Amino acid sequence: MSKALRWSERWFRFGLWLVALAFGSFLIGLGGNIVENLPRVETALTLENFLDPAAAGKLRAEIDTAQQARQAAQDALDQAELKLNVARADAATARDTFANWLATRRATERPEQDRELIARTAQLDALKAAERKALAAVQAQQQVLLDQQQAEARAQSALGELRAAAAERYHDEMRSQELRVFGYRLALTLPLLGVAGWLFAKQRKSTWWPFVWGFIYFALFAFFVELVPYIPSYGGWIRYSVGIVLTVLVGRYAILALNRYLERQKQAEALPDVERRKELSYDVALARLGKKVCPGCERSVDLSNTAIDYCPHCGICLFDHCTACNERKSAFARFCHACGAAAKS
Ligand SMILES: [Zn+2]
Ligand SMILES: [Zn+2]
Repeated sequence: MSKALRWSERWFRFGLWLVALAFGSFLIGLGGNIVENLPRVETALTLENFLDPAAAGKLRAEIDTAQQARQAAQDALDQAELKLNVARADAATARDTFANWLATRRATERPEQDRELIARTAQLDALKAAERKALAAVQAQQQVLLDQQQAEARAQSALGELRAAAAERYHDEMRSQELRVFGYRLALTLPLLGVAGWLFAKQRKSTWWPFVWGFIYFALFAFFVELVPYIPSYGGWIRYSVGIVLTVLVGRYAILALNRYLERQKQAEALPDVERRKELSYDVALARLGKKVCPGCERSVDLSNTAIDYCPHCGICLFDHCTACNERKSAFARFCHACGAAAKS
């Protein structure tokens, strides 16, 4: 693609790049649609697929039952503890009252109160017995609660073991599925990349270049979006290796291209001035002059210095004199800007 200098040509080129982009995005859209409508080749797997449903179901039911029983035992324990507190408070109050009464009785020494002493002692014993009974009820509920907690813990740990065994099989299967999905995607993408590579090498400057570049965009998109995220990682091994291979390939291409360019340039600079001028396209020469570099060797030259008529680097003629009016003019201009005479070619 030479540098266009004509105003309309520039706009045409810009429009054609838009055509390339649009062509590429429509291809991407169509490709996405096709991939979406392909039959699903792999089912989505979960850990559940690898659990023995009967064993896991039995353990889950056990855990459920144990949890409910534990909750019931906890409620009963709360109630029993409340009752124990009441019984303790009753007994403590009765004990205090009895002690006071006993002190009064010793002070007054009234023998007719012996019967009451017996009754009060019996009452106190009954309260102590009630307290003891409430304590026994609390202890019984604590035992029930502990039993249920242990049963639940046992079922949980059995389920945990079952899940750990299933997880291993699940990860193995996921890995091989990942590999298969990558294989399908590679089989779809690789031909596209091959065609794109061939188009880039052979057709990128052809008349139909907007379509060529559109297709190259499409292939690059397919590679980076549809393939790269599906490269199995294996702890980064494959991804880094693919990255290294790609970098080496691109780097090799760039290095060879640079060497070819330098070689071509060296050969061109060795040719006589007239022939070099013929090889340079008019538009390229003007574009390079516009960037204040020598059209022949692309090194920078002070074009405003009227003493410089030849490139000090490669010796190509930059300015000459009109054959008709002897005005100093650009050696690349086709006509004299002062008299309009055609330049000798
Ligand atoms: Zn030069
Ligand atoms: Zn002239």
